Amino acid sequence: MAATTYQRILLKLSGEVLAGPNESGIDGGMLDYLAKEVRSAVELGVQVAIVIGAGNIFRGVQGQQRGIPRASGDLMGMLGTVINSVALQETLESLGLPTLIQTAIPMGQIAEPFHRKKAVQALTQGTIVIFAAGTGHPFFTTDTAAALRAVEIEANAIFKATKVDGIYSADPVKDPNAVRFDRISYADVLQRQLKVMDLTAISFCLEHDMPIVVFDLKTPGNIQRILSGEAVGTVVHK
Ligand code: UDP
Repeated sequence: MAATTYQRILLKLSGEVLAGPNESGIDGGMLDYLAKEVRSAVELGVQVAIVIGAGNIFRGVQGQQRGIPRASGDLMGMLGTVINSVALQETLESLGLPTLIQTAIPMGQIAEPFHRKKAVQALTQGTIVIFAAGTGHPFFTTDTAAALRAVEIEANAIFKATKVDGIYSADPVKDPNAVRFDRISYADVLQRQLKVMDLTAISFCLEHDMPIVVFDLKTPGNIQRILSGEAVGTVVHK
C-alpha cells in the first residue's frame, strides 16, 4: 500500500515534452528521464496510467494550414500519439517496468484496443497502462482524452506535466506581478481563462470532480514529491 493519498493517477504528458531540447521528434535522454520519473511513482506503490500527446510529431491544426482536412489531420495526430506511446513503452520496459498500451483506434498488431476493465485490472496488478490514440475522435485533444480516461479508470487525479511550476494569475514570463496558486477551483480556471487544459477537458473534470495537479516536470523528483504529500504545483479542484 502506498504511503500517499494517491492510489491511482493518470499522468498527462504533452508530445512536446518528448522532444526534449529539440523542436520536434523524440529525444532519447528525455525518454530515459520520463521513464525514471514514472518509476519513482511505481516504487511508491502508485498505479500509473499515461496519456501522451503528439505535438512533437503532428497536430491536426497544422495540417489545415496545408490544405489537409482537419479530420484527417487529427487522425495523423492521433497516430503520432501511438508512436510516442510505443517509444515510452519500450523505455519503461528497459527499466523492467511492466506496461500495456491500449489504443482508442484498434490496431491489433501494435496494441490492444481500449478496454476499461482490462486496463483497470492491469493497473491493479502494477502494470503501467498507456492510453494511445487520444479519444479516437477528431476535433478533440489528448487533454480531453486524459480527462476521459482518468474518470473511466477512477483515477484519484490527473497529473498534468508542464514547463512551469503551477498555474499563475498571468503569464509569469510576461507579467512580473503574476502569482502562483497552490489551489484553484475549476470555476476560477474557466472564468479567468487560464490555460491549464482545453475547455472540454476542464469542463469534463469539473463535471466529474476529477482533480488536476499541474506541476513542473523538468524538476527531477516532482512526481514523487507530490505523491508524498509535498505542496508542489497547483491543484485544480471543485
Ligand atoms: N487528436 C485528436 N483527437 C484526440 C486526441 C488528439 O484528433 O482525441 C489529434 C489532434 O490533431 C491533436 C493531436 O492529435 O492536435 C495531438 O494531440 P495534442 O494536440 O493534444 O498533443 P499535445 O499538445 O499534448 O502534445
